[in-house]
Amino acid sequence: MRIILIGPPGAGKGTQCQRLVEYLDVPHLSTGEMLRAAIRAGTPEGVAAKDFMEHGHLVPDTVVLAMVTKRLESPDCRIGCLLDGFPRTLPQAEMLDELLERRAMTVDGVVELAVPREELIRRMLARKRADDNPEVFSKRIASFENQTAPLLDYYSRQGKLATVDGLGDADEIFGRVRTAVEKFAKRPGRGGSR
Ligand code: AMP
Repeated sequence: MRIILIGPPGAGKGTQCQRLVEYLDVPHLSTGEMLRAAIRAGTPEGVAAKDFMEHGHLVPDTVVLAMVTKRLESPDCRIGCLLDGFPRTLPQAEMLDELLERRAMTVDGVVELAVPREELIRRMLARKRADDNPEVFSKRIASFENQTAPLLDYYSRQGKLATVDGLGDADEIFGRVRTAVEKFAKRPGRGGSR
């Protein structure tokens, strides 16, 4: 199956993705992780991305799309994948649809982890990541609201969106995520891969 997990910064995407890749037994494609690895390795993509990430802005679509295209074309992704942190803008979502369509593939479903803004801020204060200082974090929330939230509508119009309550303990939330994914698997006309 090809599933996308969408959620604002601090929604607990990382934890849920870990469980979901195990459950689905597909590769985990996290663009945030790929970008952080590119920065550590000093690749051209890393150099291009660093400043944007440090300031809480999205990295340009061209940089991210090149990385994702390469990864999606690797043989282990034939069976499906879990997309985490991608797509994050409408052009990215449209490019992904085109890319998959050319390969007779499709997105099977999109899970939104919904968490209220006050809770995101409370969780952020309890974490310690370089891009988690309050000012940068607010910018990341703003990027989500302005650039990523429109994707929810895009996928809802395609009948692919499931919104999951992201409050509660991780097991409880994962139960909801799994129920959503099981429904995608039963949808008529979904892509042939598992
Ligand atoms: P994440 O680990 O998914 O929270 O991503 C960390 C940071 O990487 C984001 O705040 C962005 O600066 C950048 N990033 C990750 N994925 C994307 C994407 N699909 N498009 C643009 N920027 C991204």
